[in-house]
Amino acid sequence: MLENKIFEDTKTAFALKSDSELDRAYFLFKMISVQPLVRVGTAVTRFALNAKLPVEKLIRATVFDHFCGGVSVEDCKDTIQKMHTKNVHSVLDFSVEGEEEESLFDAALEKVSNVIDFSEDKKAMPFSVFKPSGFGRFEIFQKVGARKELSTSEEKEWQRIRERFDRVCAQAEAAGIYLLVDAEESWMQDAADRLVEEMMEKYNKERAVVSNTIQCYRWDRLDYVKVLHQDAIKKNYKLGLKIVRGAYMEKERKRADELNYDSPICRDKFETDAHFNAVMSYIFDHLEDIWMFIGSHNEESNYLAIELMRQKEIANNDPRVWFGQLYGMSDHISFNMAAEGYNVAKYLPFGPVKNVMPYLMRRAEENTSVAGQTNRELTLLKKERKRRDD
Ligand SMILES: Cc1cc2nc3c(=O)[nH]c(=O)nc-3n(C[C@H](O)[C@H](O)[C@H](O)COP(=O)(O)OP(=O)(O)OC[C@H]3O[C@@H](n4cnc5c(N)ncnc54)[C@H](O)[C@@H]3O)c2cc1C
Repeated sequence: MLENKIFEDTKTAFALKSDSELDRAYFLFKMISVQPLVRVGTAVTRFALNAKLPVEKLIRATVFDHFCGGVSVEDCKDTIQKMHTKNVHSVLDFSVEGEEEESLFDAALEKVSNVIDFSEDKKAMPFSVFKPSGFGRFEIFQKVGARKELSTSEEKEWQRIRERFDRVCAQAEAAGIYLLVDAEESWMQDAADRLVEEMMEKYNKERAVVSNTIQCYRWDRLDYVKVLHQDAIKKNYKLGLKIVRGAYMEKERKRADELNYDSPICRDKFETDAHFNAVMSYIFDHLEDIWMFIGSHNEESNYLAIELMRQKEIANNDPRVWFGQLYGMSDHISFNMAAEGYNVAKYLPFGPVKNVMPYLMRRAEENTSVAGQTNRELTLLKKERKRRDD
């Protein structure tokens, strides 16, 4: 492991944060670390927003501004530029979730398309991203994945989903940027996987224009990566893979339990960590065919990646390897890696406050359940505050 623990440098990590922003972040993580508060807070917020109570301002001044770039693409401009001065890139993420209407899928398509337009010629934004369920009904993905017969109107719906995927991929290719496709619940993911595979075969001839996401908390994913790798060799395309641990663990386990099937999730955190590192190592062994975006806040996995790159003499800024964290989290990893010349991009969510609430609640719950991470943020913020005061 590395002698030089680069993530401990809080001066570099928080160079863009004013003293008052540091204090706000500290206050926020302190609140998030109290589990009952998060549980009550998310329920009350949901109720208040549905009842149209005037809580938006409060949300904006706290969680929203910490974890999001703004309501619109325009709002995010300042943040994008500021981060880019430190060699940290932005992945604008239209984080509206759970919509189920055709008109809203078309609206989401337009948003992603606008982001691609906005990204063209901007070195600060080499990626765009979307969620499969943002482009079509969850249930259709589920039915297609389970190979159930579709009605005539469902066939048309599926065709429209395919067209939406195709349109943004073609646009990303023409704009010279990369497109990441997020992964979601396992019971809809098979259909999304097939669709992204189709797109990769079509668009990834010279470079990985499109990348699929591998959730390493699923114990079957290393085998899936190996199958994909063979497919890419056979059909002569570059494989693009974003690797993450996975964000839907509780939901996955609950459903498996209720419907009485084997959970697709690794037995424990240790197994997930080992699986994540195994997938990452496999890809580092095959970089001639696979491009990788490592989406993780885990220090050990990031240090392992650094170490593997050093051992294999892969340049820090090799265009096939990117590192990503979420805006508002793990700046000590993002900014320190960027300072060392690695390719780093932060997901920068944007959208109307009410619509990004599911995203924000996931962040709050995730930071609560991964207590270690919240404590780590608190320790780092405190350390930096002390360094500035001394
Ligand atoms: C840039 C970026 C993009 C992302 N895109 C996606 C995406 O498309 N789809 C998606 O699902 N998630 C996505 N995520 C979220 C990601 O999957 C994780 O939820 C989050 O990053 C926490 O994992 P970690 O590696 O950062 O850190 P860690 O704190 O080391 O890991 C926490 C994760 O470990 C796993 N875990 C925790 N406890 C257990 C247990 N008892 N048994 C088994 N596994 C356990 C869970 O996956 C949990 O989220 C993304 C994250 C980033 C940074």
